[in-house]
Amino acid sequence: MVQRINVAVIGATGMVGQNYIRLLANHPWFEVAYVAASPQSAGKPYAEAVAGRWHMPSDLPEPVRKLVVGDANDVEAARGKCALVFSAVSLEKQATAALECAYAAAGLPVVSNNSAHRFTPDVPMIIPEINPGHLDVIAAQRKARGWTTGCIVVKSNCSIQSYMTPVWALWQAGYKPRTLVVATLQALSGAGHPGVPSLDIEGNVVPLIKNEEEKTENEPLKIFGRVENGVIVKDGSIAISAHCNRVPVVDGHTACVSLKFADRAPALAEIIAIWRAFKAAPQELALPMAPERPIIYRDEPDRPQPRKDRDADKAMAVTVGRLRKCNVFDIRFAGLHHNTVRGAAGGAILTAELMRARKLI
Ligand code: NAP
Repeated sequence: MVQRINVAVIGATGMVGQNYIRLLANHPWFEVAYVAASPQSAGKPYAEAVAGRWHMPSDLPEPVRKLVVGDANDVEAARGKCALVFSAVSLEKQATAALECAYAAAGLPVVSNNSAHRFTPDVPMIIPEINPGHLDVIAAQRKARGWTTGCIVVKSNCSIQSYMTPVWALWQAGYKPRTLVVATLQALSGAGHPGVPSLDIEGNVVPLIKNEEEKTENEPLKIFGRVENGVIVKDGSIAISAHCNRVPVVDGHTACVSLKFADRAPALAEIIAIWRAFKAAPQELALPMAPERPIIYRDEPDRPQPRKDRDADKAMAVTVGRLRKCNVFDIRFAGLHHNTVRGAAGGAILTAELMRARKLI
């Protein structure tokens, strides 16, 4: 049996932070022992700090109700209370980057939902089913920065999660992608709370999510990249064009993808077989948060749909459907994932489990 370790959530009172608190309740490996947020929340019991703004569907877990919220900027306060930090603070980018480095320098591994370090060359951006090997860069990260037990690992933007694993599964099977065009239909919860004003989104679609297309086009290149001389070198062989849209859906990001392969394209039946058989490190290691089947292919012609498919396999699976030939590229399909679980806190918890299994925590 794996011994439970104490973990901290910084930014614990926010939308992503609350999802950590919800998903970590009764986690077999991790126990929330420390929570921190802005100076405005510091000093209050957690239940009081989130009173009137607890947005989760389940009740506040009993063990965290009385935890006194710390100031996330006070790194020393976390020392001795936890062996791992989940970071979901909302600060200006440079301040976030510096704060996460300070926690790592204090000996604490940091798993972050923030974008601040996504393109720091020696910081791995992990989707556990795709690039678990990028965790190898941590040894060089620690050495270069003089950190001993501390380190920084980030997760990607939620916009890319609906198609990355299906594309990777095909690549793994020998069908390398070359060009990908994706239109995302992104849920409201991706914008945090209270998010987009209801009068802007009710019965409407907004064809702009600030900076989202750049992230959607660039983050996959790092995730598909390789570790070389202590840094992650981006993959330069795949080109992505993205259209990111905000739609009036509460949870669940959909991606409509057209894909061209570098060489020959597999038959549609073979693609479905590859997706259905795909398993990776989280499944082989039986990590607690891992979905049994990371890719679920649905044969019904009108799936996936956010309401019906976002909660598949603990809300950690990617559901794919509508695979068909493309008149311009090789194939087309629709993918869907739960953006606040797989796409945010759940994906980060899975990454931390992978780090624990690999003795990095
Ligand atoms: P949020 O609801 O606004 O929560 C922000 C959190 O940061 C709160 O706990 C807040 O504490 C804390 N905070 C605010 N100002 C602070 C300060 N000056 N010092 C210390 N703590 C401070 O934001 P969110 O939607 O949860 O998003 C959190 C972060 O995750 C953002 O950077 C966001 O971009 C990122 N994010 C990532 C993903 C993903 O991984 N895919 C998805 C969504 C969001 P108080 O409650 O005390 O103000």
